[in-house]
Amino acid sequence: MRVTFLGTGTSSGVPIVGCDCATCRSDDPRDQRWRPSIQIELADGTSVLVDAATDLRAQALRFGVDRVDAILFTHSHADHIGGLEELLLFDHYVINKTPRLILTEPYKKLLWERTLRGGCEHRENGTFQFDDLADFIFPSVIAELPREIYETEVEGIRLLIFRTVHIPTEGDNSGSKFWSTGLLIDGRVLFTADTRFDPLLFEQLPMDNVDAIFHDCQLHEPGTVHATYEQLKTLDNDLRGKMHLTHYGDMFQKFDPATDGFAGFAQPWAIYQ
Ligand SMILES: [Zn+2]
Ligand SMILES: [Zn+2]
Repeated sequence: MRVTFLGTGTSSGVPIVGCDCATCRSDDPRDQRWRPSIQIELADGTSVLVDAATDLRAQALRFGVDRVDAILFTHSHADHIGGLEELLLFDHYVINKTPRLILTEPYKKLLWERTLRGGCEHRENGTFQFDDLADFIFPSVIAELPREIYETEVEGIRLLIFRTVHIPTEGDNSGSKFWSTGLLIDGRVLFTADTRFDPLLFEQLPMDNVDAIFHDCQLHEPGTVHATYEQLKTLDNDLRGKMHLTHYGDMFQKFDPATDGFAGFAQPWAIYQ
């Protein structure tokens, strides 16, 4: 199995005019951090995408992603689902295909009603339902407390989907009304997607076989909806040593994650296997 980050940052993949940082000065698209989407790929070519950022089509074209068996969505911010409406309509009208989406049943309803319906519902005659535009894989609930966890297997890839506390509810860490999830892939690769600092996560998930953690990381303080670099530095050496930082801002060159005990910044287009 290999995991590839099509994007690891928070920017659009387009250099900011007038910005003098090394990232924006570079002409090489690989130096741009793009928005976060990942591809999980098996040796036989099976491919599952996690999230479809606003710039997914550009990322996929640049990276040469030509096979997608299913797509999983972690939460409804545009840097994670901004490419979904276009994908649904393009697949339906242009290539006559029905994409397969991995969604828990509660999130499927939220995603359609609160995000997609406005742009996708209307057709020449009548209306579309979400089921007209996509097929679904529904993970089953395997735990509700202390944290909701769902499980499914897609083309031989075992996925554990767990709730995260990206946007806190009433200032505590025990739950969040905002639907956000992370992912444990085959028990070995942990991807937090977006969460604020939440050390309980590592006590509540089966961590024994995890050998790589991809954790979102905000480089500035305070950490309201993401874990900050300084907060992640307080975790045990063992966790930090496996931790690749993702979803980081353009000022990453001012940091030295190896010195601080992290595995490093996840690199766009790099393959982890
Ligand atoms: Zn988010
Ligand atoms: Zn995000």
